[in-house]
Formats: sequence, C-alpha cells, structure tokens
Amino acid sequence: MLSELRKTVWELNMELPKNNLVVMTSGNVSGRDPETGYIVIKPSGVKYEKLSPDNMVIVDLNGKVIEGDLAPSVDTNTHLYIYNHRPDICGVCHTHSTYASVFAALGRPIPAVMTASAMLGGEIPLGDFCYIGSNNIEIGAEIVRKIGSKKAIVMKNHGVFTVGKNAAQALKMAVEVEEIAKITYLALALGEPVYLTDEQIKITLEMYDNDYGQ
Ligand SMILES: [Zn+2]
Repeated sequence: MLSELRKTVWELNMELPKNNLVVMTSGNVSGRDPETGYIVIKPSGVKYEKLSPDNMVIVDLNGKVIEGDLAPSVDTNTHLYIYNHRPDICGVCHTHSTYASVFAALGRPIPAVMTASAMLGGEIPLGDFCYIGSNNIEIGAEIVRKIGSKKAIVMKNHGVFTVGKNAAQALKMAVEVEEIAKITYLALALGEPVYLTDEQIKITLEMYDNDYGQ
C-alpha cells in the first residue's frame, strides 16, 4: 500500500547521504499520507545502500506497524509525537549533520544571518537536552513545545529535526539548515555576523512563500 509515498520517502532518505548529512545508518525522513493518516518511515539500522521502497515501514499514529517486515526507525516515536500534535506537518527529517550539530554541542540556537534563514522562519531555536531511545516521547514533546512556526530545531547535544508540509519539504529544510549552519559557523569564526531584523525575515519569508519556484 501507499506505493507512491513509499517511493518518495525512500528517494528522500537516499538524499541524506548524497548531501553528506548522515554517516552509516543515522538520519531518517518520514512522510504522512493525508488520506489514511499513515506514516511511511525508514527502517531501523539498515544501511542506505540496502534501502528500497519495499522496505520502508508503514505505521499508524500509535506506532503500530501496518505494513513492513522491518522495525521502524528508533526515532519513530519522535516523528509520531510531532504528527499527532501538528496536523499541518506531513514530513519530518532528522540528522546529526555536522555544522548544525556544532550548534547542538554548544547549546546555541542558529541565528538568522542569511536571507535563506527566512525560509526556515528565522533563528533556528534550541531544544533542551533529551534522552534518546525508542520508547521515549521526550524529544517529540520538546520539539512541539519549542519549534513554533519554524521549520527546524536544534536539539542540544544531539542534532537537528526539520519539518514540512510534506516529506520533500522536510528534506529540503535539512539541506538548508546545514548550509546555513556552515555559513554561520564560518562567519562567527571571522567576526560578528550581521543579523537579520524581524522585518527582513518576515518580508523574505513572504517572498519564499509566494514567489519562489515554478
Ligand atoms: Zn539522532
């Protein structure tokens, strides 16, 4: 079932290693099917080159496996917590991408210093430290508490989660957040970056929402 979404979620997961956002089996992308409400997510602990549309796992909002032979990602509960509390979100992505994770290690939000930052809603907020683990809902709860209308959040000592109106947007935000984190890191290394004002963020975000793309 959900063969289109399976293929899409598989393709988007394959973008993670292509964009150097993950090592080994870390990282994951999921997507929600708006009709059934089911979630398609990467299986746990399978190397990227072994992934296929067929081994993506379909779960319901309670985490029950609807279709799939493999166990879903250990981060499934985090994805589900977000989907259960944010009906507007139909895609979630998680990585430990290097530059974004530098901010996680420092316990610092990523400030808005580039026009591209507006795409993510401006400054990328910081979530508090949470223990990881498959039965844990702490991470999801902290994301829902802190992310607001932003498209990304840095989780202290851990990595980054991004969200979107679909899985493709969540993946795009994961690529953007890493690029922004890299530029911000380098700018901070050379001096004091010029921060965007709230007005600049608002107007630029409107451009992204209305003028951008085909
Ligand atoms: Zn993680």
